[in-house]
Amino acid sequence: MRETELANESGTALEVLERVFGYALFRGHQAEVIDAVVGGASALVLMPTGGGKSLCYQIPAMLRSGVGVVVSPLIALMQDQVAALRQAGVKAAYLNSSLEWGEALEVEHDLVDGKLDLLYVAPERLLSGRLMDLLGRVRVALFAIDEAHCVSQWGHDFRPEYQQLGVLGERFPDVPRLALTATADERTRGDIVACLGLEGAQRFVSGFDRPNLRYHVTLRTSARQQLLEFLGRFGRNDAGIVYCLSRRKVDETAAWLREKGYRALAYHAGLDGAVRSEHQARFLRDEGVIIVATIAFGMGIDKPNVRFVAHLDLPKSMEAYYQETGRAGRDGLPSEVWMAYGLSDVVQLRGMIDGSEAGLEQKRIERQKLESLLGYAETVACRRRVLLRYFGDDPEERCGNCDNCLNPQTLIEQPEATELAQKALSCVYRTGQRYGAGYIADVLVGAKDERIERNGHDAVSTYGVGKDRSKASWMGVVRQLVSGGWLTVDGEYGSLVLTESSRAVMRGEVEIPLRPEPERKKRARGERRDRGGAGAKVLEGDKDQALFERLREARLVLAREQAVPPYVILHDATLVALAKARPGSLTELGHVHGIGATKLERYGERLLEVIGAAG
Ligand code: ADP
Ligand code: ZN
Repeated sequence: MRETELANESGTALEVLERVFGYALFRGHQAEVIDAVVGGASALVLMPTGGGKSLCYQIPAMLRSGVGVVVSPLIALMQDQVAALRQAGVKAAYLNSSLEWGEALEVEHDLVDGKLDLLYVAPERLLSGRLMDLLGRVRVALFAIDEAHCVSQWGHDFRPEYQQLGVLGERFPDVPRLALTATADERTRGDIVACLGLEGAQRFVSGFDRPNLRYHVTLRTSARQQLLEFLGRFGRNDAGIVYCLSRRKVDETAAWLREKGYRALAYHAGLDGAVRSEHQARFLRDEGVIIVATIAFGMGIDKPNVRFVAHLDLPKSMEAYYQETGRAGRDGLPSEVWMAYGLSDVVQLRGMIDGSEAGLEQKRIERQKLESLLGYAETVACRRRVLLRYFGDDPEERCGNCDNCLNPQTLIEQPEATELAQKALSCVYRTGQRYGAGYIADVLVGAKDERIERNGHDAVSTYGVGKDRSKASWMGVVRQLVSGGWLTVDGEYGSLVLTESSRAVMRGEVEIPLRPEPERKKRARGERRDRGGAGAKVLEGDKDQALFERLREARLVLAREQAVPPYVILHDATLVALAKARPGSLTELGHVHGIGATKLERYGERLLEVIGAAG
């Protein structure tokens, strides 16, 4: 019998993992999910980005007889996945609108002839009568619905076609269905289950942690200089994303980075479609490209070796922040995420919410979401902990891999902090709630300033009460008061105004937590940038790093020959493993992480040459 033969040939899940993908161990819930699905069960799988969702359906599709049908919303993603699978020797294909009619027909033939282990399809294609009929005639191993949160209107990526996927359960009641996503709160989860008929399915929920990401948040003093310092931690072949709020800032930042010698490209909705695709393609295809983008960039970018994500402006919510930063380090290698923010972000984002067309309830939700993000930005606690708790996880007190854990900060002690807050609020009140943060700070430190004298504010009781602190530290107090909602900024004039909750502070009824402002580093000219331990340099030794770069070059050549992105050929993690282990024979090479049988055959000799030449 063909079927049992196939089953024997494929072996166990672990054997497939090793032989096809070149990995030694399953991660997280992978083994359990695969077991359940191979056994015919349906499942709901929540795993963070980079957690390894794909193997959860790819391996069962290979182990069960018939074709595994994968529903994926994004064409670029599909193409990459299929290219990567083919590199590993898996019989995979896709059907979407990018194919010529003849090409699509060929795929359909292969499908009917039982030649495919995996078929990737766009939802609307799957639901077309034609493909449904074809699938009715072949054996289907499973349906995998990737990015399953797209079924939900509450999610951020609602796609109406997804809601019709419920018919799969009706048409194919005996075929296991897997819904997979990286982001799903309770409500979205409920929608997925209801919509896809997964009431009886097993649930596998992993935490949201991305342990290989190092989180940094910094106060914006001189954005460009700070960005340069951050970028200085990476090598010229490291790719990353820089997010900005406005298109203009994207264009300017990209141009400026190019002047500084970086391969930086802009990406936003205002660019011509062809330019956008070209920039995206270069990001995927070449090494070391930095994309400067508005949030329009990223959906469906599955590039695993993004080494950093920088935010020059605050995103709108923790969800957006988590998703955007999540694009770094999918391959599990150390990666850095960094954000610079200041009072103007708070003012700008609040203004955008207030001025939007949204209804009252919607605005209330958006304001709350922004508050959470501001809380994250201002915290002295472990960033990871704040982030994960927001998503319902309960991690350790300290992660050891965020700025606050690495350089612990402590809050200003009480009652001092509350007294500082009172002084600032009182100064805002005494000067008539008509001025911005800079002016208030000047009054507090008792600056000799013509405007202050003209206004007679050198005579108010708060003039000079804060002269023991710097102007910057008072600006910090004001910013934190605004972040926490104890002050607001008038949208039109930018003046600070007291709020409902300011009163309780003035009366001493609440304690205000304040963190000290970080000292501004004055860097001597010509001082070397910090490339030290904090960086994401992947290898310790210089010789290993050099070999890694050589391997990267060789990979780029192979990728160009086949017109696929480099990471489809071999992952960075595999190059790292190669540079460390320096295998001397094909057998040794076969044991390296990420080298399966097919890749060994295709690239073994070439890799050994490069390693051999490194001596
Ligand atoms: P997700 O879809 O959950 O974001 P992927 O399925 O793309 O994640 O996997 C992320 C990366 O981790 C990929 O590079 C993949 O090859 C790798 N990976 C997945 N499972 C394993 C494993 N068990 N061992 C080693 N690497 C793995
Ligand atoms: Zn931490």
